[in-house]
Amino acid sequence: MNEQSADGPRRIAPVPDETSEPFWRGGADGELRIQRCNDCGYFLHPPGRRCPECGGRAFTFSAVAGTGQVYSFAVNHQQWHPAYPTPYVIASVELPEQAGLRIVTNLVDCELDAVHIGLAVRVVFERLGEWHIPLFTPEVAAP
Ligand SMILES: [Zn+2]
Repeated sequence: MNEQSADGPRRIAPVPDETSEPFWRGGADGELRIQRCNDCGYFLHPPGRRCPECGGRAFTFSAVAGTGQVYSFAVNHQQWHPAYPTPYVIASVELPEQAGLRIVTNLVDCELDAVHIGLAVRVVFERLGEWHIPLFTPEVAAP
């Protein structure tokens, strides 16, 4: 059952600051961009101002593959906001670029019964004004 679609509910816009803004803009170029430490290469998400690995304070937003696996998820049935019809899937998606690198997101275009830990997913973007919201959808298995 697909409760969300490209012309579906309008999302609440993010309020990026100077630290997180590149993350919300990457989708304009079809890229999932994650903050990466210039000194040691550590990926940091959510974006921050100090590298937890080396203490570095200089970062670049690097495009990652946009693939991942569902690390954990919940199906929400409580309608907290009129813009978000239920049910919908909240997921923590682990990216392959670094152990423990995870993004909290929604799964879209996905049968609720098909969601499981380890499900292979890929990023899709939902444009919202000048921002692009990274969402994930199941990888389509090769025939
Ligand atoms: Zn670092």
